[in-house]
Amino acid sequence: MERTKCLIIGSGPAGYTAAIYAARANLSPVVIEGLQPGGQLTQTTVVENFPGFPQGITGPELMENMRLQAQNVGADIRSGVVSAVDFDASPLVVTIDDGTEIYADTVIVATGATAKYLGLADEVKYAGMGVSACATCDGFFYRKKVVAVVGGGDTACEEANYLASLASKVYLIVRKPFLRASKAMQERTFANPKIEVLFEHTTEGLYGENGVEGAHLVKRLGQPDETHYDLPIDGFFLAIGHNPNTEVFKKYLATNETGYFTPRDESGVRTLVPGVFVAGDVADPHYRQAITAAASGCKAALEAERYLAAKV
Ligand code: NDP
Repeated sequence: MERTKCLIIGSGPAGYTAAIYAARANLSPVVIEGLQPGGQLTQTTVVENFPGFPQGITGPELMENMRLQAQNVGADIRSGVVSAVDFDASPLVVTIDDGTEIYADTVIVATGATAKYLGLADEVKYAGMGVSACATCDGFFYRKKVVAVVGGGDTACEEANYLASLASKVYLIVRKPFLRASKAMQERTFANPKIEVLFEHTTEGLYGENGVEGAHLVKRLGQPDETHYDLPIDGFFLAIGHNPNTEVFKKYLATNETGYFTPRDESGVRTLVPGVFVAGDVADPHYRQAITAAASGCKAALEAERYLAAKV
């Protein structure tokens, strides 16, 4: 059975930063990449807010750089998905989907978050045929077409603005009479002539022969003037938040009501299980930025190093 001082689960900015710090501290970390190597940033275009890149850098390039940097300092990066853990055991046990079990003195969980869907049967029916949860991945297919984005937060506004650079028209479907997005993002959205915000709208379903041709919408659901109508669109984009990827760990690590890990203390990375640390979006419902994820990956690795040093 293989044993490592530090096992890192996840390969977004948190996982790779943890790997860089752990490797430089001679912990010889093993990184299990997970379902989406490189994480959510591999699905974005230009990142302009990660310090050190005055002209910006594409998400995939940034993640490839982080991966290479982690490898160059000695991290052992492997493909695979963690299917089970035993955090009651000492050392900790992590099982990979190919059946491999790894003993670990410390584990850093940096599994990120996954986009949410409304839960409509039509989202499944039209998956890959007009329904997407990633504008920057799929926007290209909607050049000069009409699309809708669901959500009223920063992500929805960002995606609507991005899609407006490609599509002929973008509807933003918002369930409340206001946007939750930051002021600056709201202003950008309202100022974009291609974006039309549909406040107090909910989506009942989608229609179309061989792909999405429109959405069944309700205006002011539950109000006396409730109105049902169909909106012709070619693409339907979800931007209603994310679910943290905590499922495999729930038996051992505490989560809040929305499923995010709740770290033990102000470090933001220590958990109640000795030797287990959390980093990145999986424990951060608030900031969800590459730089904050990277910072928490750094903290988790430093804490893992201190934990091991104290045990000797
Ligand atoms: P948020 O949770 O902020 O917003 C989710 C949006 O989706 C809300 O408008 C919410 O509506 C709506 N929504 C949720 N569920 C449903 C549903 N079932 N039907 C219809 N609408 C629904 O998520 P974001 O992903 O936008 O942002 C998460 C965090 O990341 C935020 O802190 C944000 O500021 C940050 N962020 C920052 C960016 C930046 O700075 N550039 C870019 C992107 C994100 P309601 O308001 O009614 O609850």
